[in-house]
Amino acid sequence: MNLTLRIWRQQSANAPGKFVNYQVRDVTPEMSFLELLDALNEDLLSKEEPPVAFEHDCQRGTTVCQLSMRFFKDGDSLTLEPWRARAFPVVRDLIVDRSAFDRIIQAGGFISAPTGSAPDANAILVPKEAADTAFDAAACIGCGACVAACPNAAAMLFTSAKITHLNSLPQGQSQRDQRTLSMVVAMANEHFGSCTNHGECEAVCPKEIPLEFIGRINRDLIRALWHRHREPLVISGVVRQPFHEHAGAEEERS
Ligand code: SF4
Repeated sequence: MNLTLRIWRQQSANAPGKFVNYQVRDVTPEMSFLELLDALNEDLLSKEEPPVAFEHDCQRGTTVCQLSMRFFKDGDSLTLEPWRARAFPVVRDLIVDRSAFDRIIQAGGFISAPTGSAPDANAILVPKEAADTAFDAAACIGCGACVAACPNAAAMLFTSAKITHLNSLPQGQSQRDQRTLSMVVAMANEHFGSCTNHGECEAVCPKEIPLEFIGRINRDLIRALWHRHREPLVISGVVRQPFHEHAGAEEERS
């Protein structure tokens, strides 16, 4: 089959971009989307034109490496453009800078554990339900489709998956409050919008991360803020004092 690709071309971050139409001929149903772009790039290189720079793209329940051409028919026209979000500036063509996600993970996507020899298996028992939840959350591949699909360019689904992954495990409990606050603060410091419950993120997520995880981090955030009444927390290197400076004195009186 023959397909028309309408592709966003942009030489660099600061250069103006525009859509360019390309014809790709003799596409077979077995080809993957990435192979389709490879075929286009080979054609462009043979004409000494710059190839299309791309990373990947995803749709609901399917990463682009799993997407084959059998989903399309002869004569179809496909539009390919980079993720559109202020927090993801375009680097070139279809490639965007997603380092904002890395900074959110660096803020708390870890547990602190003593180094040394490997712990005995089953030294810490993990309930089946917690293991299943953590496993589902860990499926997030950080692609950014949720941000691009959201009308507000919010990163709540991604952040909720990363926080839920560790907050639901016994090993993640000691830093649960600090992790939640640090990662939510890191998210707020990037150029992401606010969640207003559109649900577009869940609709496009290739790993089917559920909206339920956003509810979980909202609950964890309330929990962490409530605990701040009683003890100071370190957030991104800053010691935050409890909201109520005299809370301790009131407890002593009671
Ligand atoms: S939550 Fe889904 S859409 Fe968002 S980054 Fe993770 S895998 Fe991609």
